[in-house]
Amino acid sequence: MVQIKTPEQIAKMREAGLVVAAIHAATREAAVPGATTMDLDQAARKVLAEHDAKPNFLGYGGFPATICTSVNEVVVHGIPSDEVVLKDGDVISIDAGAIIDGWHGDAAFTAFVGSGHAPELLELSRVTEESMWAGIAAMKQGNRLIDVSRAIETYIRRQPKPGGGKYGIIEDYGGHGIGTEMHMDPHLLNYVEKRRGKGPKLVPGFCLAIEPMVSLGTPRTEVLEDDWTVITTDGTWSSHWEHSVALTEEGPLVLTAPDGGKAKLAEHGITAAPDPLA
Ligand code: MG
Repeated sequence: MVQIKTPEQIAKMREAGLVVAAIHAATREAAVPGATTMDLDQAARKVLAEHDAKPNFLGYGGFPATICTSVNEVVVHGIPSDEVVLKDGDVISIDAGAIIDGWHGDAAFTAFVGSGHAPELLELSRVTEESMWAGIAAMKQGNRLIDVSRAIETYIRRQPKPGGGKYGIIEDYGGHGIGTEMHMDPHLLNYVEKRRGKGPKLVPGFCLAIEPMVSLGTPRTEVLEDDWTVITTDGTWSSHWEHSVALTEEGPLVLTAPDGGKAKLAEHGITAAPDPLA
């Protein structure tokens, strides 16, 4: 069953989404050479406290931190640590969430630590981010869940990979419904798998966390002995981008983007729904 939200509930999710956006701003600024991933976790905790918001990652299935910090070949679910010191040239994906009055927000971005990154890493992050926006642009009435998956996959497959070969669209993890819990039905694949069917119809009140994960090599992953850290099986580096999105009567609202998705959706010829908090 998919949880359908009222406009008032979407406004609450927008509040949570803006806290997530503030965590992104703070952690992006803190992700510099010499910082530890625990420093980033502390920056996130400070933002949550300032906004009277609760963490949703901390304690989730026993997860021991407030955000996920996934460096280089780590795809997702990296655990912040005093022992992981960021260095010039690293690529880090930061996944963060917040709860306001029981409503959840969840979003991730990939950042470059220091400078001098190879063009294929810059392109990897660009392709992953843009595939997320292609998926968000497919959040419209009349579409089904599979149309979001198809938009993400099609975008990635059409991008030439510098140096040749194919991008790996990570298969073991995907997006999800979000609302009174962080992870709810339906599960959203980042590629089309026909035997899963077309999925539910997208109707106003439908909320999804859309989160492609892409590697420079394999689509396959394994989990380290800490039971959390997910790495690519071939050691290639990866990128992860995510936004929480609500479909409204007036179009999509990107709950975790400061501008509600206005600027990026305009590139797709779509008008973002008005911000209920503006
Ligand atoms: Mg998520």
